[in-house]
Amino acid sequence: MSKVDRKLSVINGGRLIDGNGGAVTRNPTIVVEGKRIKAIGVAGRIKVPRGAEVIDARKCTLMPGMFDCHAHLAAYNAATFNNYRVAIFEVTPQLESFYVLFHAHMLFEMGFTTIRDLGRVTPRGQFTAEFCAVRDAINAGIVPGPRLIVCGRAIITNSHLDLVLPRAALRQPDMVADGPWELRRQTREQLRTGADFIKTSVSGGGGTADEEPDVRNMTQEELDAIVDEAHAFHKPVAAHCFTTQSHRMCVKAGVDTIEHIVFTDDETIAMIKDTGIPVIPTLSHRTDHAIEVRRRIGTPQNVLTKMKKIQPYTFESFKKFHQAGVKLAMGTDIGLDPEMGNNAAELEIYVKLGMTPMEAIQTATKNAAEALGLGKDLGTLEPGKLADVIAVEGDPSRDIRMLQERDNFKMVMKEGSIFVDKISNEKKYVMHPEPGSWKIIDNL
Ligand SMILES: [Zn+2]
Repeated sequence: MSKVDRKLSVINGGRLIDGNGGAVTRNPTIVVEGKRIKAIGVAGRIKVPRGAEVIDARKCTLMPGMFDCHAHLAAYNAATFNNYRVAIFEVTPQLESFYVLFHAHMLFEMGFTTIRDLGRVTPRGQFTAEFCAVRDAINAGIVPGPRLIVCGRAIITNSHLDLVLPRAALRQPDMVADGPWELRRQTREQLRTGADFIKTSVSGGGGTADEEPDVRNMTQEELDAIVDEAHAFHKPVAAHCFTTQSHRMCVKAGVDTIEHIVFTDDETIAMIKDTGIPVIPTLSHRTDHAIEVRRRIGTPQNVLTKMKKIQPYTFESFKKFHQAGVKLAMGTDIGLDPEMGNNAAELEIYVKLGMTPMEAIQTATKNAAEALGLGKDLGTLEPGKLADVIAVEGDPSRDIRMLQERDNFKMVMKEGSIFVDKISNEKKYVMHPEPGSWKIIDNL
């Protein structure tokens, strides 16, 4: 093992976006030793160690591996399923676990080296153990993949997450809990299973026929209990929120990230900014394209109408959060819609709503790492940090859409190891090199 630890590589790039938000640097060189960045600077001014493997990415922009802070790798998405209602009842959790890995690979090949997954509920129960297994298999090095941060869920009866399943689906007895002590027990149970953090829902959502986005999902006492319990085990809490009331409850309870941007007001935005709680916008599935994808995979019309109704509030609120200077970390909520893998399309929406491309890139790098408590090791390219480095053809700081083309990703390095290499003679891919040739799961 020690031989691997000392491995030296040198990456020569055309441009550098280091994640700190400054101007693009020309002709960068990054020296990687083992898992970490040893040196970084302009080519010629950096001492290149003898015997190092040299990666010639001079046609590319080097930047930190990206984060999606809110993905649903186990959800049925348009790239792998035709109809999510059919899939819910026909796919076993065991098979679904392999799709988690497959979806993670789709993202890994497109520059995402860290994915925080916000979970899944199936008629057979919560999916925590399955997520932990995929994460652990990747960490053990037995399958390639991005760094996964996975959750268990604390769910109350009739809440957003409880309503994710169709009314006709039978639930496992332990899937929901009510009252502070039951929720504490459920939180403990999820952490015991191996969850990295706890997800809960403070307001309703818009994703199913049976729920309204503007209802309260739990009392302050219940939310406080979940947060207190998770924090007692040094684990963070991510809270789904669609409303002003839920934002205020989160501020009071001290949650660690607020998920989604929908309804809000100026006073509440100021409260969030004061506490420094990062907000994960998840705008990808608010677009007309996402609504169209949902229609195609069998989502009922009343849900589509709901999605369309909250769309303008979402985009307006995003502008307000951005202008107020709230810390925003990129998250897509991609699962059901639109297309898994193309998660960087979220950044194009941020740019359309007023961010500079560089600010948008920071939401998926520096801000994201800090939001997840990983800022010490990840998010920017600096000496001492873990070497999560990607090489992208073109300059995403000029055209953010460069990050949406699979072919543009010429190299993906995670912790000093190269997983995707389309530059050198020995090409390396994580996935099947001809994407699109897999079968839709409910057509197998
Ligand atoms: Zn979500």
